Amino acid sequence: MAKRHVIIGAGVAGMAAARTLRDLDEQASITLVGNEPAYARMVLPYYIEGRIEERAVFTADATHFETLKIDARLDTRVSAVDTSARRIELEGGESIEFDTLLLATGSRSARAPIPGAEGDSALDLWTLQDAKNFLAAPHGEVVIVGAGFIAFTVLDAVMHRAERVHVVEVEPQILPNMLDETATELMTAHLRDRGLSIHTGTRVDRLETTGDRRILHLSNGETLSADAVVLATGVRPNLDFLEGSGIETDIGVLVDGLLQTNVEGIFAAGDCAQGPVLHLNERRVHAIQPTAVDHGRLAAANMAGQNATFEGSLIMNILATQAFEAASFGLWGSDELETTRVENTAGRIYRRYVWDGDRLVGGILVGPTHALSGQNDVGMLKGLIQTGVALGPWRSYLEENPLDLRRVFVASGAAKRLLDSTLLSGRMTEGGAFRIGAQKAMRTRSEHHTTLLTGAP
Ligand SMILES: Cc1cc2nc3c(=O)[nH]c(=O)nc-3n(C[C@H](O)[C@H](O)[C@H](O)COP(=O)(O)OP(=O)(O)OC[C@H]3O[C@@H](n4cnc5c(N)ncnc54)[C@H](O)[C@@H]3O)c2cc1C
Repeated sequence: MAKRHVIIGAGVAGMAAARTLRDLDEQASITLVGNEPAYARMVLPYYIEGRIEERAVFTADATHFETLKIDARLDTRVSAVDTSARRIELEGGESIEFDTLLLATGSRSARAPIPGAEGDSALDLWTLQDAKNFLAAPHGEVVIVGAGFIAFTVLDAVMHRAERVHVVEVEPQILPNMLDETATELMTAHLRDRGLSIHTGTRVDRLETTGDRRILHLSNGETLSADAVVLATGVRPNLDFLEGSGIETDIGVLVDGLLQTNVEGIFAAGDCAQGPVLHLNERRVHAIQPTAVDHGRLAAANMAGQNATFEGSLIMNILATQAFEAASFGLWGSDELETTRVENTAGRIYRRYVWDGDRLVGGILVGPTHALSGQNDVGMLKGLIQTGVALGPWRSYLEENPLDLRRVFVASGAAKRLLDSTLLSGRMTEGGAFRIGAQKAMRTRSEHHTTLLTGAP
């Protein structure tokens, strides 16, 4: 009998899983249940900015699901999981039985409890509907509350739409979970030059609505006035439907290296999963799109009966705003490990490399886009940390020439390792024997590409 796979959530993790399952098993029955259409939240900023139309946000339509023979029910919320009867309950009373189940329910924005900021008096920017609400509301002057990763992913879009934008952050610096003080100072200076008004070290005590205006009372005594207030104060995994199911949760759904929960045959992936991370002996929610895709594919492989082990996602945050880029990886903030730093204040360039012996285990890169993207340095630093290659004598070379990542990357053979380990960007244990069928290594390699792969300068 064909296996019955059920996936909850049609975000990037759920879609990656559905496609992988179909790749691996033509006969399997696949049901995808979600309470939103299939789309990628990550492209919402381009939609807000007006650079793409709404239809470009979606990752699948009815025809696509039909072609893949996936039974998609995308206006349906799952209200419960019955692990002993092995079925999910839908709002409305229907239930669906499964042999394997994937929880890919993502996360939602978690509003800070600011008096007066309930309901429509403030906006979230997390879902497609939120994006539409923002565009429909007056937004000439906007305050974004929170200066973390999510605030920064929408910052360019908001700055593009609004005439004046303020950011309020309770911590003493912007991006406190992503950058150190030096990096943040350079970025703050750049953004202030671009007209962003940044208020750090102060909290919003109260929000008052007067006619169409919002007045924010800050703990430092200042007030700000705006047409719209966007709350970017954190996100929380969607787990409420799991209450009483016996599936173990902490901040997210706890999963092992197979991305399986404590219940056999039930897996979790993406923003709702709390799984392995590289370089750390703990499980974390790692709410970024690349991890959601890796999780979705890996979990699907295991649902299809493979034995693919996920060694862990690399903690990373990469963003670009106002032609300035910032990236941090792995143990970037470690005070105990040895670090190499280089700073050029005038050029607003800063790098920090964190070492464990001759291996890079963390790092920060910030600088103007032309100085980072042109060199592909973000990708190369990520590759060196993710593969954990021993650099031997190249460690001292990098310490003496911290801007020359390319030579070290080529010499280390990191590119080849990345390609050999898997075509999923997370690493898998040897013998995992899983490869996405439709994706093959490049057959024709340019000279430049060959150099990167073979390590021969
Ligand atoms: C504006 C914005 C910009 C971003 N930019 C970046 C970026 O630049 N880089 C990056 O790496 N990441 C970015 N992210 C984060 C990235 O989008 C998420 O990590 C990713 O969407 C996670 O995918 P997922 O499939 O786990 O969850 P989601 O995309 O959240 O999908 C989960 C789906 O499950 C549905 N669901 C939840 N509960 C139920 C239920 N009980 N029944 C049925 N369905 C349910 C949800 O409604 C949702 O449709 C951004 C996010 C936002 C909002």
